[in-house]
Formats: sequence, C-alpha cells, structure tokens
Amino acid sequence: MNQGDNIMGKRLLFSLFGLCIILVSLTFFALSISKPYLGIEFSKSAQGWVVRAVDATGLAKSHGISVGDKPIEINGQPAQIFLEKYDQDGTVWGLFISELTVVDIQGQSKSVSLEGNSPPAASKIELASWLVVCIVFWIIGYFVFLKKPKNTAALLLYISGIILGLSFSANMGAARSIPTASYLSAAASLIGPWLLVHFFLVLPEGSTRLHSNPRVYLIYLPALITIVLFLLIGYHDGQPVLWFRSLRLFESGAGFAIAAGIAIFNYAGAISVRIKQQMKIVLIGCLAALIPILVLNVIPQAIWGQGNAIVPDGFSILFIAFIPIALGYSILTQKLMDIDLFIRRSAIYGLITIVMAAIITTAILAIITFQKFLGRPQQIIIGLILGGVATALFGPVKSGIEFVIDKYLYKDRYDYRQIIKSLNPLLNSAKDFSDVSRLIVGTTVQTLNLAGGCLCIKNTDGAFDVSASQGIFVDMTNQKRLLNLLSQRNIKIEFPNSATRQDIILSYLIPLIAGGKEIGVLCLSPKNSKQDFSSDDLFLLEGIASVAAISLRSAILVHDVSIRDTFVSIASHELRTPLTSILGYTELLINKDPPESTRKRWLKHILNNSQKLTDLIDDLLNVTRIQSGKIIMKLEKVNLSDIFEERAAIAQESTSKHKFVVEIELGLPAILVDRDKFGEVIGNILSNAVKYSPNGGNITLSARYELQSHCVVVSVIDQGIGIGPADRESLFTTFHRIQRPETQGIRGSGMGLYIAKEWTKAMGGDIWLKSELNKGSTFFISIPTQDFKDSFKALS
Ligand code: ADP
Repeated sequence: MNQGDNIMGKRLLFSLFGLCIILVSLTFFALSISKPYLGIEFSKSAQGWVVRAVDATGLAKSHGISVGDKPIEINGQPAQIFLEKYDQDGTVWGLFISELTVVDIQGQSKSVSLEGNSPPAASKIELASWLVVCIVFWIIGYFVFLKKPKNTAALLLYISGIILGLSFSANMGAARSIPTASYLSAAASLIGPWLLVHFFLVLPEGSTRLHSNPRVYLIYLPALITIVLFLLIGYHDGQPVLWFRSLRLFESGAGFAIAAGIAIFNYAGAISVRIKQQMKIVLIGCLAALIPILVLNVIPQAIWGQGNAIVPDGFSILFIAFIPIALGYSILTQKLMDIDLFIRRSAIYGLITIVMAAIITTAILAIITFQKFLGRPQQIIIGLILGGVATALFGPVKSGIEFVIDKYLYKDRYDYRQIIKSLNPLLNSAKDFSDVSRLIVGTTVQTLNLAGGCLCIKNTDGAFDVSASQGIFVDMTNQKRLLNLLSQRNIKIEFPNSATRQDIILSYLIPLIAGGKEIGVLCLSPKNSKQDFSSDDLFLLEGIASVAAISLRSAILVHDVSIRDTFVSIASHELRTPLTSILGYTELLINKDPPESTRKRWLKHILNNSQKLTDLIDDLLNVTRIQSGKIIMKLEKVNLSDIFEERAAIAQESTSKHKFVVEIELGLPAILVDRDKFGEVIGNILSNAVKYSPNGGNITLSARYELQSHCVVVSVIDQGIGIGPADRESLFTTFHRIQRPETQGIRGSGMGLYIAKEWTKAMGGDIWLKSELNKGSTFFISIPTQDFKDSFKALS
C-alpha cells in the first residue's frame, strides 16, 4: 500500500469513528432538549436533610425551590423513607426524583413534578449553547484534520473535539438521567483533558521527538484506570460515590491545568518565532474564552449573588468556542500574524462601542424620562440632534482612545511599513557601500532601540568582514566573538529563530539574501529595554532584510564595476609604458647599428622594462589568486638577516639618494613564513619607501621581538612624503593610489600593499602603519613566533 492510500485509509477510519461519537452526542442533545430534570442536590446537616444546591437550569429552580429548603415528600412518599438509605453517604443527587415537595424557612411548601412539565427556557438555552460549542469543535476538528492528515497535533485536536463534545453532551444527558450518559460523561471528561495535554506536547513543530515516542501515551494511564474503577466502584445505589466523584473531578482539573501549564511553558521556552506565535494564538484564544465568562458571568454573580450575571450562564458558555477556533488556527497558520495589531484594534473598537453605547443609552434614558413633557416633533428633533452628536463624536472618541492606548500600552509603537518605505530612497541615494551598511545598521538599531547591531559581509573567501557596527558591536572583542559564531552558525539560530541561546549578546542573525545568494548577515543584539521583540518588530526586520540585501547587492556591483574600470585604466597605462619602451629600443636595435656600449645600454633598458612588465603581470595574477582564495603558502623557518640583506641590496641598486640601515635584535625567536612571499612583501615596502621619499634619506629596516603579542615585528622607516590619516585604511585595498601633488609622476599600480596585507594575513600576521604627512612613514609587519603558534595549536 502506498503512502497516499495509507493517509486516505487513516482519514476514513478516524472520520467514521468521529462520526459515530458525534451521532451519540447528538442523540444525547436530542433526548435532553425535551426532558425536564429537577437539578437538585441534598445534603445531610445537623438539622437533617436540606437542599444543598439548585441547578440554574432545572425545574426545581424554576419552581422556586432554593438552597436551605427541607424536603418533606419525595416520589409520593415521606422524604425520610427515600433518603434514609443515603444517610451514610450524606449527599443525594436528584437523579431518581420525579416528584418533590419542600418547605422553606418561612414554613411555606413548594412542589415540583417532572410529570406534565416541559424544561424551562434556561435549560434549552444552555443546551443550545453547548450544542453550538460542540459544533464549532467538530467542524474545526474535521477541517483541520482533513487539511493536515499527517499532522499529529491536527489529529489530536480532532479527537479532543469529538471527545470533549461527547463529554459536554453526555453531561447534559446524565443530569437528565438518560441511560448510559453518566458513564460516557465520566469517561469522556476523564480522557478529554489528557488529549489536550497530548495536543500541547506535540503542537510545537520543533518537538518532533514526542510525535513518535510511545511513552507519551502513558499520560492516559491514570485516566484509563479511573474509568475502569468508575465502572466498578463509581456508583452506589444509583448515586455517584462522593469521594470517587471528587477524585474524578480532581483528575480532570489536573489534566486541564497541566495542558495550560504546557502551553505556557511552550510559549515561554520557544526559540522559534513561529512556535511562540502558535502558542500566543492558543493562549489568546483561551483568554478570549475565559475572560468574558469571568467578567460577564462569574464575577457579577460572585458580587451580586446568583442570577445576577450580565450574560446568563447559558449564553456565556458560547465563549468557549474561541478555544477550538484558536487551536485550529494555530495549527493551520504558517504565516506570522500581527497579533499585537489585532489586539490593539479589538481594544480600540471595543472601547469605542462601549463609549458610543453609553452616549446613546444616556440619550434614550433622557428622552424616556422627559417623555411626558415633550411632544412627538420635539422627541424626533432631540433624537436627530443626539444622533448627530453621536456621529460627530465618533471621530474624536476614536482618536482619543487610540492616543490613550498607544501612549500606555504601545509606548514604542511605530509603523514598520512607513519605516521600510522611507528607508528605500535613503539607501538608493547612499553614496557608497559603507554608507549603505551604516544606514541599514543605524535604522534597525535606532527604531528598535537595540543595544547594538553589526553588518557582516561575505568576502570572496566565504568568510565575513564587518562593514558597519553600532553599540556593543563597536567593541573588537564582541566583533571577534560574532565572526567566530558566524563561521559555525546553523539554520536553528538564524532569523526568525532567536540566536540568544548561542550567545546572550545576540537576539537575531538575519541572513541577507539577494538573487539567491547570501550577501551578508545582519546581527542584532537584544533591546536596551530587555523586552521581547513584537510581531511588528519581526515584520520590520523581514522588510529591512529584503531591502538591505538588494541595496547591498547593487552597492557591491557598483563597487566591482568601479574596481574593474580602475583596473582596466591602471593595467592599460602601466603595461603600455614599459611595452612602449621595449618596442622603441628593439626598433632602434633593428634599424641602427650603434656602438657596443650603446647597444648594451639599450639592451639593459629592454631587460629592465621586461622585468617591470613581468612584475606587473605577477601582481595581477597574485591579486586574482587572492580574490579566488587560492593562496598557497610554503611555510618554513627562515633566517631574517638573509632576507633583509638580500632585499636591502636589491632596493639599494635602484637608488643612490637613500641609505639603508638594517637592525636585527639579538636572539630573535624563529618564525615560520613562505620565504619568497615574505621576501616580496618586504621588497615591496622597501621599494615604496624609496619611491615615496623622492628627496632621499635613511631607510631603516629592523626586526624585534614583542613579548606581549608573541610576535616578531618588522618595521620599515622612511623619511618621505608620509600618508594622511584619511588614506591609511584604504591603502591596503586593491588599486588604491593616493592622489596628491607629491605623488604625481610616481609610477605604481596600487596592488603592492593589498597583496602584502593578504599574504601577511595568510602567514598568520598583520600589517599596519604609522605616518605623518611630509615627515615619513613606518610600516610594521608582525608575524607570530613559531613557539606561540605551536602552543596555541596545542591549546585549541
Ligand atoms: P603602488 O604601486 O601605487 O606603490 P602600493 O599598493 O604599494 O601601490 O601602495 C599604495 C599607495 O600607498 C601608493 O600609491 C602610495 O600613495 C602609498 N604609499 C605606499 N607606501 C608609501 C610610503 N612609504 N610613503 C608614502 N606613501 C606610500
């Protein structure tokens, strides 16, 4: 059998099972609707048997019998005869009583008989309300189950609805002494709450472990044992055994309490926004059911006495229907819903309705009060005026209520659509990549009042570089912590899931994806207020993420295009100069027959320019290798003084204006580097020192050990034109050349320092500089010592 048939079979089986139980439930409703019942309970006190409770929907109540009355005649016999067999139990339900006469404290007697009486209206209303609640449970149960037959939570919701429906209907039937109803009512009310417990255990989509764990079914064990015991000892002489009934009620109550506890726990412990939202919907549904019942029914009756509810018992039951609606919605919804907005709107319109109703009621009362002094035309005019006033007041009342609600309940409310809308043109007008990055981080941090934000962009090697940071992420240690985490992140800690469990300085890691490729990650800290993120906040973040990804992608493209332009212009210019020179001298050699010394000079020019060409092409190839992540390092122990001497000698050949000084600290620890590449890095910095100190001077090449960082630090000091602070960072990027009057005429491609930095980083070191305009520059290269590297490796 294939999976499709399996699902169909399962659907059919459960649907039939459900249908049978629904039919039983409907039978109980149908039998109950025309069957009157007394709805009375007696208990034995010091003064003998008295009425202990009267059901609001029973005949006893509608015939004026109340708590404290004494029974004198039951079923046509003196009450004592009927009651004496229950003397030991101390309690009797009126299940087997069809005729009753009582006397009240004033000595007045009241009688009631099932014969010839139809159920009071309150009983019919109560039954109708329960029927509506059951129908909502059934329809939602079927709908959700048929829509998601593979979802365990959906199946459990369906079964819970069916069983709770049976419990409600059988309960009605049991009160009216319909055969078997009391057994089914007890069984269903024992199992029902545990079905809900099971439902809440499997609802969070993350808890798939529980879906197939057979041990979960153990939660039903106590209820099943109690059901079996109920058949054996639950009834005595046709009456429920009191202690056993209490145990049953306690067990059902415990089930409901545990279900609610699990729902709250799921909500509080959810890391996934979706699960949090699911649980929020469920909890809001339960509150929507219970709060109106409490406010409109239970509390008024507790204050003003029984029968004084704003909405009578029968009607208030209808609010329970909110529970299945919320449970069903929580399973079916896949989208994040703006619940806060929903609550805010409900609160606003609820209050408006109350205020308007109060105004209109006052007007109507006023008209009724002064009716006798007013003629019909005056009444109509006053009515129209008051109607006009109410209409005119609608607007101001609405904005007043909105103002109060926003001020006290939604302090940091903002319109996320408006923010995203206004961010777009700002991003479009941003000058370059770093402006775009700053804008994205700044807008997010400020709107949400976060402790910090950081935008990390994926570089060509797939690693991340920080492109903008604010708040706590300006701190280098936090940045390092973040970059480290990003290298080992997984989908479980990516937005919309929270990343807080991974690191408390984080709330969300939001991947920025454009054109199917991840461009970077927007990392956000928790709010300054430590409050949770609302649905509005999440909508804002979703919006910012998509706008940001697109803007960053176009900023990167623009940047790439401008680099390519620079590359083409530099390459063509720099390649052309030596090539022109080579061509010129070759032509001269072919056409002329110069003396030997001139011929040698020309050949030397050709050789030098060919060397320049080779160097340039090497640089271009190196840049390409670096950018495609293909740097190969052959690390070996080197003798620094050899490399220094060699490179200083080469540099010295190109100049007579400069004097080279080499200083190496005694007893330097060994370093591991790629000999050729390290030599080239030093050679490049030395040749820059020569090029950019046109007036000559000393060039000092030195090396010392730095204890604090466990590094050998090489420095090259010149007395040249220097570098201004604004240029210091960008010097190490591709094709960056400083345009100053002093640099006019100095040839270069802007690749040397970029290659030097990338190679040094690949050898585990770093490169930086200190400089003062027109005084000279010092370039530093640090390389960790071999011992330190070894111990670090051992540690990690
Ligand atoms: P280039 O081929 O232009 O020298 P580099 O990448 O080696 O390329 O250097 C980038 C820029 O840094 C140079 O164009 C120059 O403006 C500046 N620069 C490098 N070294 C020095 C220095 N020692 N003194 C002053 N400016 C320097």
